[in-house]
Amino acid sequence: MAKRPSKHLRVPRPLSTGAFARMEAKADGEWMVQTMPADGSTKTYTCPGCSQPVAVGAAHVVTWPRVASIGSTSTVEERRHWHTTCWQRRR
Ligand SMILES: [Zn+2]
Repeated sequence: MAKRPSKHLRVPRPLSTGAFARMEAKADGEWMVQTMPADGSTKTYTCPGCSQPVAVGAAHVVTWPRVASIGSTSTVEERRHWHTTCWQRRR
């Protein structure tokens, strides 16, 4: 493990993984992105990026629009599970 130079003091985050979602701007709008740890997945999802399954036990990301789409009552319904790499490739 290499030591990182500490230019800035970093505030340590609480260890409750997945409690925080970050916002990412993509070509079609702003998305909330939450990282799911490997032990956080209990079922198989289909990745919208490559149509391949996101395996149980695989770390991945969950995304949902920051603002619900027209006709949608809740952004929770719009949650999608992506392979981390597929999401990063998305524009
Ligand atoms: Zn994928």
